Amino acid sequence: MRFFSLKTRLAFGEGSLSYLRSVAKGHERVLIFSSRSMRVHGFLNEAMNHVEDAGAGVMVVEGVPPEPSYEYVEEVLPRVKAFGPDMIVAIGGGSVIDVAKAVKVFYDSDAEFEEVAVLDRFNPPLKRIPPLRTPLVAIPSTSGAGSEVSAASVLKYGDLKYTLVSFEIAPEYAILDPRLPRGMPPKVARNSGLDVLVHAIEAYTTTATTPFSDALALRATKAVFEWLPKSLEGDPEAREEMHYAATMAGIAFLNARLGLAHAMSHKAAWMGEHGYLNAVLLPHVMEFNMRDGRTRLRYAEIARELGLSGAEELVEKVRELSETLKVEPLMERVDEGEFLRRLDEMAEKAHRDPLINFNPIEPTVNEIKELYRKAFYTH
Ligand code: NAP
Ligand code: FE
Repeated sequence: MRFFSLKTRLAFGEGSLSYLRSVAKGHERVLIFSSRSMRVHGFLNEAMNHVEDAGAGVMVVEGVPPEPSYEYVEEVLPRVKAFGPDMIVAIGGGSVIDVAKAVKVFYDSDAEFEEVAVLDRFNPPLKRIPPLRTPLVAIPSTSGAGSEVSAASVLKYGDLKYTLVSFEIAPEYAILDPRLPRGMPPKVARNSGLDVLVHAIEAYTTTATTPFSDALALRATKAVFEWLPKSLEGDPEAREEMHYAATMAGIAFLNARLGLAHAMSHKAAWMGEHGYLNAVLLPHVMEFNMRDGRTRLRYAEIARELGLSGAEELVEKVRELSETLKVEPLMERVDEGEFLRRLDEMAEKAHRDPLINFNPIEPTVNEIKELYRKAFYTH
Protein backbone atom coordinates (compact mmCIF):
# COMPACT_ATOMS: atom_id res chain seq x y z
CA MET A 1 0.00 0.00 0.00
CA ARG A 2 1.21 3.51 -0.82
CA PHE A 3 -0.01 6.99 0.14
CA PHE A 4 -0.28 10.45 -1.34
CA SER A 5 -1.04 13.24 1.13
CA LEU A 6 -1.69 16.94 1.30
CA LYS A 7 -2.41 18.34 4.74
CA THR A 8 -2.81 21.95 3.67
CA ARG A 9 -6.05 23.58 2.61
CA LEU A 10 -5.36 25.90 -0.35
CA ALA A 11 -7.13 29.20 -0.91
CA PHE A 12 -6.09 30.89 -4.13
CA GLY A 13 -6.98 33.68 -6.53
CA GLU A 14 -6.82 37.44 -6.73
CA GLY A 15 -7.60 38.94 -3.32
CA SER A 16 -7.61 35.59 -1.50
CA LEU A 17 -5.52 37.16 1.27
CA SER A 18 -8.89 38.11 2.77
CA TYR A 19 -9.38 34.42 3.65
CA LEU A 20 -7.06 35.15 6.57
CA ARG A 21 -10.03 36.83 8.28
CA SER A 22 -11.96 33.55 8.24
CA VAL A 23 -9.09 31.40 9.45
CA ALA A 24 -8.17 33.83 12.25
CA LYS A 25 -11.75 33.82 13.63
CA GLY A 26 -11.96 32.23 17.05
CA HIS A 27 -8.25 32.82 17.76
CA GLU A 28 -7.06 35.22 20.44
CA ARG A 29 -3.42 35.97 19.69
CA VAL A 30 -2.03 35.71 16.18
CA LEU A 31 1.69 35.98 15.52
CA ILE A 32 2.68 37.15 12.05
CA PHE A 33 6.16 36.60 10.60
CA SER A 34 6.86 38.89 7.68
CA SER A 35 9.67 39.83 5.35
CA ARG A 36 10.52 43.51 4.82
CA SER A 37 9.05 43.66 1.32
CA MET A 38 5.61 42.60 2.56
CA ARG A 39 5.50 45.69 4.80
CA VAL A 40 6.72 47.88 1.94
CA HIS A 41 4.12 46.55 -0.51
CA GLY A 42 1.26 46.94 2.00
CA PHE A 43 0.41 43.25 2.33
CA LEU A 44 1.55 43.00 5.95
CA ASN A 45 -0.85 45.81 6.89
CA GLU A 46 -3.62 44.14 4.94
CA ALA A 47 -2.95 40.86 6.78
CA MET A 48 -2.91 42.62 10.16
CA ASN A 49 -6.25 44.27 9.36
CA HIS A 50 -7.82 40.92 8.51
CA VAL A 51 -6.61 39.41 11.77
CA GLU A 52 -7.86 42.40 13.80
CA ASP A 53 -11.21 42.28 11.99
CA ALA A 54 -11.46 38.67 13.12
CA GLY A 55 -11.17 39.94 16.70
CA ALA A 56 -7.69 38.61 17.47
CA GLY A 57 -4.67 40.41 18.95
CA VAL A 58 -1.61 40.64 16.67
CA MET A 59 2.12 40.56 17.18
CA VAL A 60 4.41 41.04 14.18
CA VAL A 61 7.98 39.83 13.78
CA GLU A 62 9.26 41.79 10.81
CA GLY A 63 12.35 41.62 8.65
CA VAL A 64 12.87 37.85 8.68
CA PRO A 65 16.16 37.43 6.74
CA PRO A 66 16.52 35.41 3.51
CA GLU A 67 18.13 31.96 3.80
CA PRO A 68 17.62 32.03 7.59
CA SER A 69 19.59 30.23 10.27
CA TYR A 70 18.59 28.30 13.36
CA GLU A 71 20.33 31.05 15.36
CA TYR A 72 17.67 33.48 14.10
CA VAL A 73 14.92 31.12 15.29
CA GLU A 74 16.56 30.97 18.73
CA GLU A 75 16.77 34.75 18.80
CA VAL A 76 13.04 35.34 18.23
CA LEU A 77 11.78 32.46 20.38
CA PRO A 78 11.67 34.34 23.74
CA ARG A 79 9.47 37.08 22.24
CA VAL A 80 7.16 34.44 20.77
CA LYS A 81 6.86 32.64 24.10
CA ALA A 82 6.12 35.91 25.90
CA PHE A 83 3.27 36.67 23.47
CA GLY A 84 1.82 33.14 23.57
CA PRO A 85 0.14 32.93 20.13
CA ASP A 86 -2.65 30.47 19.36
CA MET A 87 -2.10 30.86 15.59
CA ILE A 88 1.02 31.59 13.52
CA VAL A 89 0.98 33.29 10.12
CA ALA A 90 3.95 33.57 7.75
CA ILE A 91 3.80 36.10 4.93
CA GLY A 92 6.86 36.14 2.70
CA GLY A 93 9.09 33.78 0.76
CA GLY A 94 10.23 30.27 1.65
CA SER A 95 12.62 31.79 4.18
CA VAL A 96 9.84 33.37 6.24
CA ILE A 97 7.65 30.26 6.07
CA ASP A 98 10.57 28.03 7.12
CA VAL A 99 11.24 30.25 10.14
CA ALA A 100 7.58 30.08 11.17
CA LYS A 101 7.62 26.28 10.88
CA ALA A 102 10.73 25.97 13.05
CA VAL A 103 9.38 28.42 15.62
CA LYS A 104 6.24 26.31 15.81
CA VAL A 105 8.34 23.26 16.71
CA PHE A 106 10.26 24.94 19.52
CA TYR A 107 7.28 26.95 20.79
CA ASP A 108 4.90 23.97 20.93
CA SER A 109 7.39 21.45 22.30
CA ASP A 110 10.55 21.31 24.36
CA ALA A 111 12.48 19.54 21.58
CA GLU A 112 16.09 20.58 20.92
CA PHE A 113 17.19 21.35 17.35
CA GLU A 114 20.09 18.87 17.51
CA GLU A 115 17.69 16.09 18.60
CA VAL A 116 15.02 16.51 15.96
CA ALA A 117 16.84 17.95 12.91
CA VAL A 118 17.93 15.59 10.16
CA LEU A 119 21.67 16.20 10.29
CA ASP A 120 22.99 13.06 8.67
CA ARG A 121 21.31 10.17 6.82
CA PHE A 122 23.48 7.61 8.58
CA ASN A 123 22.43 8.90 12.02
CA PRO A 124 18.70 9.51 12.09
CA PRO A 125 17.37 12.13 14.54
CA LEU A 126 17.33 11.01 18.17
CA LYS A 127 13.69 12.05 18.53
CA ARG A 128 10.69 12.58 16.30
CA ILE A 129 9.03 15.97 16.28
CA PRO A 130 6.15 15.50 18.76
CA PRO A 131 2.52 16.43 18.00
CA LEU A 132 2.23 20.23 17.74
CA ARG A 133 -0.87 22.31 18.38
CA THR A 134 -0.55 25.85 16.97
CA PRO A 135 -2.09 26.13 13.50
CA LEU A 136 0.10 27.65 10.79
CA VAL A 137 -1.04 29.77 7.85
CA ALA A 138 1.49 30.20 5.03
CA ILE A 139 1.10 33.08 2.58
CA PRO A 140 3.92 32.84 0.02
CA SER A 141 5.17 36.00 -1.67
CA THR A 142 7.67 34.20 -3.92
CA SER A 143 6.83 31.46 -6.38
CA GLY A 144 9.35 28.79 -5.63
CA ALA A 145 10.11 27.00 -2.40
CA GLY A 146 6.79 25.17 -2.01
CA SER A 147 7.21 25.53 1.75
CA GLU A 148 3.53 26.55 1.98
CA VAL A 149 2.61 22.87 1.54
CA SER A 150 5.79 20.97 2.38
CA ALA A 151 6.62 19.11 5.58
CA ALA A 152 10.13 20.60 5.72
CA SER A 153 11.83 23.63 7.21
CA VAL A 154 15.31 24.31 5.84
CA LEU A 155 17.65 26.25 8.08
CA LYS A 156 21.31 27.14 8.07
CA TYR A 157 23.18 25.73 11.02
CA GLY A 158 26.67 27.08 10.82
CA ASP A 159 27.36 27.31 7.09
CA LEU A 160 25.33 24.31 6.01
CA LYS A 161 21.60 23.76 5.59
CA TYR A 162 19.74 21.14 7.55
CA THR A 163 16.07 20.23 7.65
CA LEU A 164 13.34 19.65 10.12
CA VAL A 165 10.90 17.19 8.54
CA SER A 166 7.49 16.23 9.87
CA PHE A 167 3.89 16.41 8.76
CA GLU A 168 3.39 18.27 12.05
CA ILE A 169 4.99 21.39 10.49
CA ALA A 170 3.18 21.28 7.14
CA PRO A 171 0.93 24.37 7.21
CA GLU A 172 -2.78 23.96 7.93
CA TYR A 173 -3.61 26.66 5.37
CA ALA A 174 -1.86 28.18 2.38
CA ILE A 175 -3.16 31.35 0.77
CA LEU A 176 -1.98 31.84 -2.81
CA ASP A 177 -2.83 35.42 -3.69
CA PRO A 178 -1.16 36.30 -7.02
CA ARG A 179 -0.98 39.97 -6.05
CA LEU A 180 1.90 39.19 -3.67
CA PRO A 181 4.47 37.67 -6.08
CA ARG A 182 3.81 40.45 -8.61
CA GLY A 183 6.15 42.63 -6.54
CA MET A 184 9.10 40.26 -6.79
CA PRO A 185 12.22 41.83 -8.32
CA PRO A 186 13.29 39.85 -11.45
CA LYS A 187 16.20 38.15 -9.62
CA VAL A 188 13.91 36.81 -6.89
CA ALA A 189 11.35 35.71 -9.50
CA ARG A 190 14.13 33.98 -11.43
CA ASN A 191 15.79 32.20 -8.52
CA SER A 192 12.57 31.03 -6.92
CA GLY A 193 11.13 30.07 -10.33
CA LEU A 194 14.17 27.95 -11.13
CA ASP A 195 13.69 26.17 -7.80
CA VAL A 196 10.25 25.13 -9.09
CA LEU A 197 11.88 23.48 -12.09
CA VAL A 198 14.37 21.62 -9.91
CA HIS A 199 11.60 20.51 -7.52
CA ALA A 200 9.51 19.21 -10.40
CA ILE A 201 12.30 17.40 -12.25
CA GLU A 202 13.75 15.88 -9.08
CA ALA A 203 10.31 14.86 -7.74
CA TYR A 204 9.63 13.11 -11.08
CA THR A 205 12.77 10.97 -10.84
CA THR A 206 13.25 10.02 -7.17
CA THR A 207 12.89 6.52 -5.78
CA ALA A 208 9.58 7.57 -4.17
CA THR A 209 7.55 8.81 -7.16
CA THR A 210 3.77 8.31 -7.26
CA PRO A 211 1.37 8.70 -10.20
CA PHE A 212 -0.23 11.63 -8.37
CA SER A 213 3.01 13.52 -7.74
CA ASP A 214 4.04 12.73 -11.35
CA ALA A 215 0.99 14.57 -12.68
CA LEU A 216 1.75 17.67 -10.62
CA ALA A 217 5.47 17.57 -11.40
CA LEU A 218 4.84 17.39 -15.15
CA ARG A 219 2.33 20.23 -15.02
CA ALA A 220 4.76 22.37 -13.01
CA THR A 221 7.67 21.62 -15.38
CA LYS A 222 5.63 22.70 -18.39
CA ALA A 223 4.53 25.85 -16.60
CA VAL A 224 8.13 26.88 -15.87
CA PHE A 225 9.19 26.62 -19.52
CA GLU A 226 6.06 28.38 -20.67
CA TRP A 227 5.76 31.13 -18.08
CA LEU A 228 9.03 31.81 -16.23
CA PRO A 229 10.65 33.98 -18.95
CA LYS A 230 7.46 36.05 -19.24
CA SER A 231 7.19 36.25 -15.47
CA LEU A 232 10.61 37.90 -15.35
CA GLU A 233 9.28 40.58 -17.68
CA GLY A 234 6.59 41.22 -15.08
CA ASP A 235 3.67 39.71 -17.04
CA PRO A 236 0.88 39.43 -14.43
CA GLU A 237 -0.67 36.27 -15.90
CA ALA A 238 2.75 34.61 -15.95
CA ARG A 239 3.31 35.59 -12.32
CA GLU A 240 0.01 33.95 -11.37
CA GLU A 241 0.75 30.76 -13.34
CA MET A 242 4.19 30.50 -11.74
CA HIS A 243 2.67 31.02 -8.30
CA TYR A 244 0.39 28.00 -8.67
CA ALA A 245 3.12 25.95 -10.36
CA ALA A 246 5.35 26.49 -7.32
CA THR A 247 2.72 24.99 -5.03
CA MET A 248 2.07 22.11 -7.46
CA ALA A 249 5.77 21.24 -7.46
CA GLY A 250 5.67 21.60 -3.66
CA ILE A 251 2.89 19.00 -3.39
CA ALA A 252 4.86 16.76 -5.75
CA PHE A 253 8.04 16.86 -3.65
CA LEU A 254 6.11 16.66 -0.38
CA ASN A 255 5.24 13.15 -1.52
CA ALA A 256 8.02 12.08 -3.91
CA ARG A 257 10.81 13.98 -2.11
CA LEU A 258 13.89 15.47 -3.82
CA GLY A 259 17.34 14.28 -4.88
CA LEU A 260 21.00 15.00 -5.43
CA ALA A 261 20.69 18.61 -6.66
CA HIS A 262 19.02 19.62 -3.40
CA ALA A 263 21.42 17.57 -1.28
CA MET A 264 24.32 19.39 -2.97
CA SER A 265 22.82 22.87 -2.85
CA HIS A 266 21.99 22.52 0.86
CA LYS A 267 25.64 21.83 1.58
CA ALA A 268 26.88 24.63 -0.68
CA ALA A 269 24.58 27.31 0.73
CA TRP A 270 27.47 29.76 1.23
CA MET A 271 27.82 30.04 -2.56
CA GLY A 272 24.46 31.63 -3.32
CA GLU A 273 20.69 31.66 -3.18
CA HIS A 274 18.95 28.31 -3.03
CA GLY A 275 17.16 28.47 -6.40
CA TYR A 276 20.21 29.82 -8.20
CA LEU A 277 22.47 27.05 -6.87
CA ASN A 278 19.95 24.36 -7.73
CA ALA A 279 19.71 25.68 -11.28
CA VAL A 280 23.49 25.64 -11.68
CA LEU A 281 23.69 22.06 -10.37
CA LEU A 282 20.65 20.59 -12.15
CA PRO A 283 22.01 19.82 -15.65
CA HIS A 284 25.11 18.15 -14.19
CA VAL A 285 23.02 16.08 -11.80
CA MET A 286 20.69 15.11 -14.66
CA GLU A 287 23.60 13.93 -16.78
CA PHE A 288 24.82 11.89 -13.83
CA ASN A 289 21.41 10.37 -12.98
CA MET A 290 20.80 9.50 -16.63
CA ARG A 291 23.15 6.52 -16.25
CA ASP A 292 20.20 4.86 -14.58
CA GLY A 293 17.91 3.35 -17.22
CA ARG A 294 14.65 4.16 -15.49
CA THR A 295 15.68 7.76 -14.90
CA ARG A 296 16.66 8.16 -18.52
CA LEU A 297 13.18 7.00 -19.48
CA ARG A 298 11.61 9.37 -16.98
CA TYR A 299 13.55 12.31 -18.46
CA ALA A 300 12.40 11.19 -21.89
CA GLU A 301 8.79 11.25 -20.64
CA ILE A 302 9.20 14.83 -19.45
CA ALA A 303 10.86 15.66 -22.79
CA ARG A 304 7.91 14.23 -24.71
CA GLU A 305 5.50 16.40 -22.69
CA LEU A 306 7.54 19.40 -23.80
CA GLY A 307 7.61 18.31 -27.43
CA LEU A 308 11.28 17.27 -27.28
CA SER A 309 12.84 14.07 -28.52
CA GLY A 310 14.61 12.60 -25.48
CA ALA A 311 16.57 12.90 -22.27
CA GLU A 312 19.59 14.69 -23.81
CA GLU A 313 17.36 17.28 -25.41
CA LEU A 314 15.71 17.92 -22.05
CA VAL A 315 19.08 18.67 -20.47
CA GLU A 316 19.81 21.01 -23.38
CA LYS A 317 16.49 22.75 -22.82
CA VAL A 318 17.29 23.19 -19.11
CA ARG A 319 20.65 24.74 -20.06
CA GLU A 320 18.99 27.01 -22.61
CA LEU A 321 16.53 28.27 -20.03
CA SER A 322 19.39 29.12 -17.67
CA GLU A 323 21.10 31.01 -20.48
CA THR A 324 17.93 32.90 -21.42
CA LEU A 325 17.49 33.87 -17.78
CA LYS A 326 21.16 34.86 -17.50
CA VAL A 327 22.06 32.51 -14.67
CA GLU A 328 25.63 33.60 -13.87
CA PRO A 329 28.42 30.99 -13.84
CA LEU A 330 29.52 30.12 -10.31
CA MET A 331 33.01 31.28 -11.20
CA GLU A 332 31.76 34.84 -11.54
CA ARG A 333 30.34 34.81 -8.04
CA VAL A 334 32.54 32.58 -5.95
CA ASP A 335 36.26 32.77 -5.21
CA GLU A 336 38.02 29.74 -6.70
CA GLY A 337 40.45 29.37 -3.79
CA GLU A 338 37.62 29.27 -1.29
CA PHE A 339 35.66 26.82 -3.46
CA LEU A 340 38.61 24.44 -3.59
CA ARG A 341 39.27 24.83 0.13
CA ARG A 342 35.69 23.84 0.98
CA LEU A 343 35.15 21.22 -1.73
CA ASP A 344 36.00 18.10 0.32
CA GLU A 345 33.77 19.11 3.21
CA MET A 346 30.84 20.01 0.94
CA ALA A 347 31.06 16.68 -0.88
CA GLU A 348 31.27 14.69 2.33
CA LYS A 349 28.34 16.52 3.91
CA ALA A 350 26.23 16.29 0.74
CA HIS A 351 26.89 12.55 0.69
CA ARG A 352 25.42 12.36 4.19
CA ASP A 353 22.38 14.49 3.27
CA PRO A 354 19.13 12.51 3.73
CA LEU A 355 17.88 13.42 0.24
CA ILE A 356 20.54 11.13 -1.26
CA ASN A 357 18.32 8.29 -0.07
CA PHE A 358 15.76 9.33 -2.67
CA ASN A 359 18.15 9.96 -5.55
CA PRO A 360 17.89 7.29 -8.27
CA ILE A 361 21.62 6.55 -8.00
CA GLU A 362 23.67 6.52 -4.81
CA PRO A 363 26.71 8.67 -5.65
CA THR A 364 30.10 8.27 -4.01
CA VAL A 365 31.78 11.21 -2.28
CA ASN A 366 34.18 11.46 -5.21
CA GLU A 367 31.37 11.56 -7.74
CA ILE A 368 29.73 14.39 -5.80
CA LYS A 369 33.04 16.23 -5.73
CA GLU A 370 33.32 15.82 -9.50
CA LEU A 371 29.79 17.20 -9.94
CA TYR A 372 30.62 20.28 -7.83
CA ARG A 373 33.73 20.77 -9.98
CA LYS A 374 31.77 20.46 -13.21
CA ALA A 375 29.23 22.97 -11.94
CA PHE A 376 32.06 25.36 -11.04
CA TYR A 377 34.27 25.03 -14.11
CA THR A 378 31.79 24.31 -16.90
CA HIS A 379 28.61 26.25 -17.15
P1 NAP B 1 13.31 34.03 0.07
O1 NAP B 1 14.68 33.76 0.59
O2 NAP B 1 12.19 33.75 0.99
O3 NAP B 1 13.20 35.53 -0.42
C1 NAP B 1 14.26 36.15 -1.12
C2 NAP B 1 14.10 37.65 -1.12
O4 NAP B 1 13.00 38.00 -1.89
C3 NAP B 1 13.83 38.22 0.25
O5 NAP B 1 14.98 38.81 0.70
C4 NAP B 1 12.70 39.22 0.08
O6 NAP B 1 13.14 40.50 0.37
C5 NAP B 1 12.39 39.18 -1.39
N1 NAP B 1 10.95 39.05 -1.67
C6 NAP B 1 10.18 37.98 -1.41
N2 NAP B 1 8.93 38.17 -1.89
C7 NAP B 1 8.92 39.39 -2.44
C8 NAP B 1 7.90 40.15 -3.09
N3 NAP B 1 6.69 39.65 -3.32
N4 NAP B 1 8.22 41.39 -3.50
C9 NAP B 1 9.47 41.87 -3.33
N5 NAP B 1 10.47 41.19 -2.73
C10 NAP B 1 10.20 39.96 -2.29
O7 NAP B 1 13.15 33.23 -1.30
P2 NAP B 1 12.53 31.80 -1.63
O8 NAP B 1 13.18 31.37 -2.88
O9 NAP B 1 11.06 31.80 -1.51
O10 NAP B 1 13.02 30.87 -0.41
C11 NAP B 1 14.31 30.36 -0.34
C12 NAP B 1 14.45 29.60 0.96
O11 NAP B 1 13.51 28.53 0.99
C13 NAP B 1 15.82 28.98 1.10
O12 NAP B 1 16.30 29.15 2.43
C14 NAP B 1 15.57 27.51 0.81
O13 NAP B 1 16.50 26.66 1.43
C15 NAP B 1 14.17 27.32 1.34
N6 NAP B 1 13.44 26.18 0.76
C16 NAP B 1 12.57 25.54 1.58
C17 NAP B 1 11.85 24.45 1.13
C18 NAP B 1 10.90 23.76 2.05
O14 NAP B 1 10.30 22.74 1.69
N7 NAP B 1 10.72 24.23 3.25
C19 NAP B 1 11.99 24.02 -0.20
C20 NAP B 1 12.87 24.71 -1.04
C21 NAP B 1 13.58 25.81 -0.54
P3 NAP B 1 12.86 41.18 1.83
O15 NAP B 1 13.57 40.34 2.81
O16 NAP B 1 13.38 42.55 1.68
O17 NAP B 1 11.38 41.11 2.00
FE1 FE C 1 14.21 23.89 -3.28
